[in-house]
Amino acid sequence: MVQANGSSQYLCLRCASAIHSSVNDLLNIYNLVEPEEMMENEAPVLDTSSITPQSIYQYLNDFVIGQEHAKKVIAVAFYNHYKRIVMKEGNGPTISKSNILLIGPTGSGKTHLARTAAKLLDVPFIIEDATSLTEAGYAGEDVESILMKLLNAAGGDPIKASHGIVYIDEIDKITCAKESSAFRDISGEGVQQALLKIIEGTKVNLHIPSSERKGQKHHVELDTTDILFICGGAFNGIEKIIERRSISRSPIGFCNNKEFTDKENSHKKNITNEDLIQFGLIPEFVGRLPMKAVLDPLTERDLVRIITEPKDAIMNQYQEMLMYDGVTLTYTEEALNMIAKKAMEENTGARGIRSILENMMLEIMFQAPGIASSVQIRLTADDVNGVTHPEDRIKSPSPVQKADLPYQAQATAT
Ligand code: ADP
Repeated sequence: MVQANGSSQYLCLRCASAIHSSVNDLLNIYNLVEPEEMMENEAPVLDTSSITPQSIYQYLNDFVIGQEHAKKVIAVAFYNHYKRIVMKEGNGPTISKSNILLIGPTGSGKTHLARTAAKLLDVPFIIEDATSLTEAGYAGEDVESILMKLLNAAGGDPIKASHGIVYIDEIDKITCAKESSAFRDISGEGVQQALLKIIEGTKVNLHIPSSERKGQKHHVELDTTDILFICGGAFNGIEKIIERRSISRSPIGFCNNKEFTDKENSHKKNITNEDLIQFGLIPEFVGRLPMKAVLDPLTERDLVRIITEPKDAIMNQYQEMLMYDGVTLTYTEEALNMIAKKAMEENTGARGIRSILENMMLEIMFQAPGIASSVQIRLTADDVNGVTHPEDRIKSPSPVQKADLPYQAQATAT
């Protein structure tokens, strides 16, 4: 055990190294004690007080566009998860688990948010699709397979796995009520009951297949009490339930698409546990997801920003990959707007961006490694629309203009 600097919180050495190193690297908050104060093999003493919901939120801001409320919910829940583990190690007060329900349309960033935050905490993280789950004894993946995947993600270490995060997608597709018209599943309630057991906290004996046994053990016990669960779903149609119950009883009536979407979403923001139960989640399950966030449908403007602004933005990735092969990729504002417009038409949120760019960039990616000298390619709206083909400019390259190069390339250009 080591005592956290300036606080009464204690960390076991294993947890300290497993959980905190990445957080502190990323947030730059290491606070090392003098070497002579450290016992042999002891992990550095960490300033746990520097990890705050605000610092997690700031980190998320670098990767996630919009979704302010959801970012705050995740920041608080992840902070609680972190604190809960730390305090438990020191026999401090028990903090109840902040499992999360994320409600939002496809491609609005639910998984992206959870994955990004899990990277910061450097805890094992897995994504499971609720529709692939079955009750134990039925054909398909039973709920315990989630734990097996988490254990694998933790490199077989059950302690590390017990601090992990599980994201369960499409939770709205395992409902059991008559209200949800689409994807009704008679076994939905059974799967929810099975999930409930591991969410509530239980000890599960996992059988390790002989091919994966590194030591002698045939079974590993995994305690699920501290695993953080995030469930995500679009909950299409729930607005009708909310509307029926809501104070504003004005009918949806005749309105344009945008008004409809705004209205639908503002209804979703008033979501209650009762609405979720009506939709088909069992009350005990809803009760285990105390933190809820409704994500906004992404606007065209959001999509434009998503193409270039996040630290891991897809356009930056293409630029870096092509730079390696001597291609300087730039783009016009119209090109970005056109990609966003087309992605909006696909109605899959930010997911459409990747497929549009992948289609457009395929030939360039194919041909770029073979080019003899450096070229510049400037993507235009016509390229996005398929009127022109950017790879044609590889064959008849225009000389690279220093002013057109991205900042990093300018710095190295002579
Ligand atoms: P969901 O889980 O809501 O269906 P995802 O999180 O899987 O959607 O989003 C698909 C991809 O789109 C992500 O991997 C990410 O690259 C991008 N994306 C979606 N929403 C955002 C956002 N708000 N900010 C930045 N990127 C986003």
